[in-house]
This record gives sequence, structure tokens and C-alpha cells, in this order.
Amino acid sequence: MITLASLNSMPAAQFVTALQGIYEHSPWVAEGVTQQRPFASVAALHAAMAAAVAVAGSEAQWTLILAHPELAGRAAVRGELTRESASEQQGAGLSACTPAQFERLQQLNAEYGRRFAMPFILAVKGHTPDTVIAQLEARLTHDAESERRTALAQIDRIARFRLEELVQEDPGEQVLARADELARHSDAPDGLTCAYLTAAHQATAAQIRDYMLAAGLAVHIDDAGNVVGRLAAADPAARTLITGSHYDTVSNAGRYDGRLGVLLPIAVAAQLRRHRQVLNCHLEIIAFAEEEGLRFQSTFLGSSAVAGAFDGRVLEATDRDGISMRQAMAAANLDPARIPAIARRGAEVAAFIEIHIEQGPVLLDAGRAVGVVTGIAGSRRSLVEVTGLAGHAGTVPMHLRRDAAAGAAQIVLQVESRCAAEPGLVGTVGQLQVPGGATNVIPGRCLLSIDLRSVDDAQRLRAATDIDAAIEDIARQRGLSVTQRVVLDAPAVPCTPALQAQLAASIRRVTGSEPLHLPSGAGHDAMMMARLTDVGMLFLRCGNGGISHHPAEALDAADARIAGEVFLDFLLHYKAR
Ligand SMILES: [Zn+2]
Repeated sequence: MITLASLNSMPAAQFVTALQGIYEHSPWVAEGVTQQRPFASVAALHAAMAAAVAVAGSEAQWTLILAHPELAGRAAVRGELTRESASEQQGAGLSACTPAQFERLQQLNAEYGRRFAMPFILAVKGHTPDTVIAQLEARLTHDAESERRTALAQIDRIARFRLEELVQEDPGEQVLARADELARHSDAPDGLTCAYLTAAHQATAAQIRDYMLAAGLAVHIDDAGNVVGRLAAADPAARTLITGSHYDTVSNAGRYDGRLGVLLPIAVAAQLRRHRQVLNCHLEIIAFAEEEGLRFQSTFLGSSAVAGAFDGRVLEATDRDGISMRQAMAAANLDPARIPAIARRGAEVAAFIEIHIEQGPVLLDAGRAVGVVTGIAGSRRSLVEVTGLAGHAGTVPMHLRRDAAAGAAQIVLQVESRCAAEPGLVGTVGQLQVPGGATNVIPGRCLLSIDLRSVDDAQRLRAATDIDAAIEDIARQRGLSVTQRVVLDAPAVPCTPALQAQLAASIRRVTGSEPLHLPSGAGHDAMMMARLTDVGMLFLRCGNGGISHHPAEALDAADARIAGEVFLDFLLHYKAR
């Protein structure tokens, strides 16, 4: 391996030599980017090389395509492959085909050559001889132009895998660069929006799959759209430690919410493999397909499938365009009938650990890179309708009014003061409307929402009771009628004390300082996974004042590096209960 820093500083000729194996027999690609150094990440280096190929013109692209060997072809048999090609073909089992597979490959290769006058090109990482044969058969049905584009796209992937194999970069910088790279796949032209099973969502899944493959994981995408990467323990009977988070986003999102909990474990898994360190349990990294509920209001879909709590009714939910989730899944080649089979058995799972950006200012305020989550707050969400009497703003004297908005304002202040009275309790009125209101009309009706949260269920219930009583008083005093509809009432999910202790011990070992414990006010996949197994969470400091669900969400590479060290330490010391 070679470090990114040394690639950035070595003489140009040496740089070209170092990268000679990345594009098959085509040093001109590396030559074309020497002047663009320094590169901030492997992703940036790859993007520059890919751009050099893209602008090279069709003649150079054809030469590049034709420089590739056939898969399990004559060059392979004669031992004439480049070192990179030989190890890739061997990794996919192509050097150990059965005679029948070998014969079929020769037959298909020949047919492909006759049809397209080029070698069949496929990034074979994660493939087996049978899946290579299936790909060959499928691509024989393409037209020539789309097949030329497919070949170039596969060359692009091959180059990336080779770069990831060759170049070592700082894990913290890698996580940030990859979050930027993923954020380019968006449903909206500006900003990051990635809703369940859109084109951007599927491209994101494919990219995460490639990151996992590059890290040496065995990868599959399940029928909920979760991307699952597995690093096996030495003992096949070992239990599985699951980590992960979601890769869908809210509208106009930050780029670390969810994705951080996928990218950081991938970086750690790559380190484990590089140092040939074996864990005493299987490690599964799951990029959950859906948590935010943006498209179908179907929160925690990915983790509910894994936890065995998938609610099939959500399949009939429709998006803004009237497309049902069932239809969207069919279009993405996912089979909802197979979702129940995704559920893990509790006995086989050791625990679930979620790494997530804090989405708040506590760690930032305390000057800490990471913190141990004590639990995920329970919450009650309700919609309140206040009804008074509309009237003319000029003619009704103040003492004869039944102003719904003034009553609502008093409710807002009541929620604020009640929740401020106890640490650990938070209350928010996020929606407040005077429907059909006008500047010269006394509000006859007002709608508001109340969101109450605490990690302590008893505390939340006490606050809810007090606030409900206060609302009744306000209504009586003002001659208003008030109805309240509770739309969500979810208990708190405590993080397992033994996992908190192990995460804390890792933070102590890595940072040398006493770990900070903090509750999570936001819901996370760990809430759903708690139905299956013990859960623990590690929070990372959120920059920019702690802002999240917003493009200004920020993460420091140094914090990501520390979190990676903490998670690696945790895995190496992990003891299942
Ligand atoms: Zn999240």
C-alpha cells in the first residue's frame, strides 16, 4: 500500500508509475491528472482520473476498453494477465471454475466478442463464476452503444476498487470524502434529498455496496433495499454484532445524518482486514434503506425488517405521484413477499451498535468529539385544536373576546415553562396556525402541535398530565373549547448498560478522558433494533452549533478519526453478555 500523502508529494513520473495498474495498460490516465495534485481523498483522485477518461474522446476510450483481457479467457489461461487482473479474477473464483463453467464462459466470451468487437468487462469483486455468467448472458442482449457505456462504467468501478486497494488514506478524511460523494446522488437538483427507492437512493445503495466490497465484506442488498456487508468471525457458530444506520435522508438534508453510521464502520472494517485482525463475533454493517419516512411516511422501514417488526400495511402507502410502495419496490426488483425472511433471530444476534452524528449542541458545548448515549427519548406528539369565536378586530371590545390564538399562545408558553422546569425534559410547539386568519379578524380557530420528550418515561408522563390540565384551565378561563389528538406515544428506549460501559471504556482508552454520557432526543434505528437485541449508541460531535436535518450539518475529520479508533477498540475488546 501507499499513502495518499506520498502520492501527492512524489515526482510526477513516480506518481504515474505508482498508478500504472489502475487503468489497464493506460498510463495516460494517471499522466493526465498529475498536475491536479494534491488530492484530498481517494474519492477525489478517482473522480479526477474518471474525468480524464470521460473527456479523452471515443478513440482513446476504445483503446482503453480493448486493453482489457477477457474474463477467464485465453490470456488468463496463459498467465498473461496484469497483476491486478489476475488477483481480481482469482478473487471471483474465475481461476477455479468447473469445466462446465469454463466452457460456458468461453462460449459466451466468443459470442460477446463477435457481437460487440470488444472484451466483456465487469468489475468482478463480489462475483462468483455463476453470477459472472449471468451478467454476460444479460449484457449480450444490450445494443452496442449502451454496452460501450456499460463497459466504461465498469472500468470506472474497477479503477476505484484498485485505488482503494492500493492507496491508504486517513479514515476520518475518508468518511468525510465519501459522505460528500454520496451526497451527489440527490432527488433534488440542489441540496441533498434521498427518499426511499428513487433513482438517487438506488445509486446511493450501489455506491455503499462498492465501499463495502472494497473493504473486503461479503455484500448483498436485501428485499427492503438494505445494503448488508458481513465480515465473518473465525468461528462460524459465533453470534453477530450488527452496526449501521440509515442512508435515506430528509428533504434538503445534512450529509452525515445516518450515512456516518455506515461509512465509519466500513472504514473500521477495512482496517481490521488490512491488519488481519479477526473478531470473536461476526460483524454485520447494515445501511438501512429507510428511516426518515420522507416518501411514504413509513419510518424505520429498513430496521423494522431486520428486527422482524415490518408492518406490511405500509406497502399500500402512496407517494405524492400516487405510486405505492409496493410498485416502487417492484420497479427496484425488490420482493416484499421476502421481507419477513430478512428478520434476524434474536439468539443469533449479540447486539446492535449505532454510530450517529449527535444532531444537537451538547458535545460541541462540552468540547468532546464523542459521547455515549444513555437512551433514546420517548415522545408524545399531539395535535391541538383551539376554537373560540371569530369577530371584527375593530368592533369587539377586548373583554368580550374569545380569541383562539391568544389561548394558543398561552399554551405555547405553558409547554415551554413546564419543560424548562426539569432537566432532561424537552417540549416544542413546532406548528402554530390560524387557519384562514386575516389581519382584521379575531382568530376563531387555531391549530398547534405539541412534542414532548424525555429519556425518563415517568417524567414525560408527568409533564403530559400537567400540560393537559393547564390546557383545560386556559380553555375554561378564556371560554375556548380545546381538543387534543395524540398522534404518537412512544416509550423511551434505554441503551443497554453493559454496552454503554464498553463504549465508555473504549473512549477512555482512546482519548484518555472521562467519557460524556448524553441522551438522544431524536429517534434512531436503534429504537427499532431494541426489539431484537441489546442496543448501544455512540454520538459524534455535530459542528456549526449542532445543526442537523440541514445542509449546514458539519462533521470534523479529526472527530471521525477518533470515533473510528473508539469503534475499532470497542470491537477488539467486545464481550457478548
Ligand atoms: Zn438519522
